[in-house]
Amino acid sequence: MRTAPTARARSHRAVGIYLGAVVLPTLALLYLGYESVHQQGLALEEKTRHNERLMAERLAADAERRVRELARECFRDPALIDVLATLDEPGRPDADRRIRAVLEGISKRHPLAAAWFVAQGDSVRFPLLESPPHRTMASYLDGETLGERPELLKLLQGAELGDMPGGRPDEARALYRRVLAKARSLPLRALALARLARIAGNTGDAGESARLYGRLFTDYPDEYDPYHRPYALVAALELQQLDAPSRANLSGARPNGESLRQQMASGRWEITPDVAEWFAGELKPVATGPERARLLTPFQRHFKVAEVFAKKLLGHGALRPDLVYPLQVEAIGQEHQLLYSVAPEDARTSSPVIVVALDVDLDWVKATLLPDVARELKVAEPIITPVEPPRPGQPPTAGSSGPAFRTMFQFWQVDPPPTNGAAERNDMMRRRWVFGGATSLVLGLLVMGVVLLARDVSRERRVNQFKADLVAGVSHELKTPLTIIRLYAETLGGSLSLTDDERREYSDIITRESDRLTALIDRVLNFSRLEQSGRTYALVPGDLGATVKLAVDVYGTALHRRGFDLTFEPGDDVAALRFDADAVVEAVINLLDNAAKYSAESRWIGVRLARRASQVVVEVEDRGPGVEPKDRDRIFQEYYRANGSAGGNGSVGGHGLGLYLVQHIMTGHGGSVEVDSEVGRGSTFRLVFPCAEGVGP
Ligand code: ADP
Repeated sequence: MRTAPTARARSHRAVGIYLGAVVLPTLALLYLGYESVHQQGLALEEKTRHNERLMAERLAADAERRVRELARECFRDPALIDVLATLDEPGRPDADRRIRAVLEGISKRHPLAAAWFVAQGDSVRFPLLESPPHRTMASYLDGETLGERPELLKLLQGAELGDMPGGRPDEARALYRRVLAKARSLPLRALALARLARIAGNTGDAGESARLYGRLFTDYPDEYDPYHRPYALVAALELQQLDAPSRANLSGARPNGESLRQQMASGRWEITPDVAEWFAGELKPVATGPERARLLTPFQRHFKVAEVFAKKLLGHGALRPDLVYPLQVEAIGQEHQLLYSVAPEDARTSSPVIVVALDVDLDWVKATLLPDVARELKVAEPIITPVEPPRPGQPPTAGSSGPAFRTMFQFWQVDPPPTNGAAERNDMMRRRWVFGGATSLVLGLLVMGVVLLARDVSRERRVNQFKADLVAGVSHELKTPLTIIRLYAETLGGSLSLTDDERREYSDIITRESDRLTALIDRVLNFSRLEQSGRTYALVPGDLGATVKLAVDVYGTALHRRGFDLTFEPGDDVAALRFDADAVVEAVINLLDNAAKYSAESRWIGVRLARRASQVVVEVEDRGPGVEPKDRDRIFQEYYRANGSAGGNGSVGGHGLGLYLVQHIMTGHGGSVEVDSEVGRGSTFRLVFPCAEGVGP
């Protein structure tokens, strides 16, 4: 047997359907949406990273190509080719100086090169890694004419003999003077002058010695003594050791230790770092540690790099003439990028082959070349950071965050600028926000739906319960009068010995109970009419006072019988109104019925009519327990009963429909129903009628 579902089961089913048909699919869709947005985000992120990586790689590759091209241009510089071609030519002892001068000139034209190196075979020619061997006297004649050489050699040898310890200084001095007068080449003149200065010093003529060293310092600063020490430095040291009065007659520039150290560091003389270090320590004022390091470290670095370069060439096979080879060198805590190549064809007059190298100016590459390349590629400038050294125990990660260069600058990694891909990221961010917002909105609506549905369902359940109670209650109330009617009707019909008075009394009872029955049925019918199609009222002009009095009279009898004292004040100047007399009687009786029901011990009820501005009010007052403030608005709702009310109406019958009907009636009259109540003191219910236009007072 199939049973109809109960109200509770029905409401559960409604909630279930809502959850199953709306909430679950929506949640599933939201989840799918979230997944899709998330995946899109990941893909976009990946793509952006990939693009950035590609861009950085391209940039690095382009930069490397540019550096190579620039290096090739440097190596083909005509001035370089020229100086390399004459590197080994006899009679050019100042070759090293010339090389330096030329290379410095080239560096000005090519900002790529910060320093230069020239190697021949396996050994580095420039810079000078080792001081050349002690110079022979004969070699000092190289700069003289062939005709003069024999005589100058004789003079020189004689002078040198006389200058030996225990020799004849006067003779030596005379011979050196003759050499000085006769010689043309600067090295020989400088040598003679230096010897004269030394002899003067040795023979105690300090003033003359100072004068001669002063001349040596000003006239031959860039010539070297036989031990390859520049005369500027030698003379400066000698002068430093002479006493002040002897130096007094110095003409020309006075040596200054600080300036000389700076000139050494900037490479004025072709000396090795050892020699430079020694002079730097001797020349006054003596340079302190950090000051000396600041000056000499870059100078020393050049040599250090040259040494590594030389080692590299040692193991090198044949170099291809048209190739530029990269070489990375670490020297005194700094990375260097060298590029080297065989000297161009024109310069290779000699064997072994000449190799030229340049030390790339890394600052220039960072500050100028890379931004240039980036501009050409129309991308933002990359960020160059040193490659992190691999941590011990971990495999080296080449450019963990960005790609490194391929063949050069291995110590750098190229990171795309953070602004790259920002637009995409913003876009993704916006999409996420939009999705998040939409999701919250949908979830909010779903929750609201659930709440509203639950409220509706519970209200529906309550109403259903009330309806069931109503049916049960009304049936019960119907039973009492019916039983009485049947009882008295049977008595009347069955007993012949009744007096006339008794007959009248029984018939009155039957009539009264039938009236009650009729009233009860009317009320239920009225209500169901209200529920189904709405009730209409026939508003006609009439005497409200008389109608209210009729209701008071009709109901008053019953109330009197129950011991109530009912007072009625008709009011003086009550305007004529349009109203539905039956409905008004029903409303007043409802209020009187309530007043009696909720009077507790009190037995007084007052009814009065009054004029209030453009309204007429009918008040029904009782002195019962009153209505709690929280219930005052709700007692007019259908099925609402103030169970916890001051009246504690649990014991009195009712269905929560009376005031609902009254309110309906008053709304139908364009008026309203109000309540004033004080808990424990009583309540006044007020029917408010608007004065109708066109109906005179
Ligand atoms: P019923 O009287 O059948 O419960 P009504 O709609 O007439 O239904 O009244 C609704 C509720 O209002 C009552 O349950 C009662 O608690 C409260 N009420 C109505 N009239 C009064 C009154 N005169 N004094 C106190 N409470 C009242």
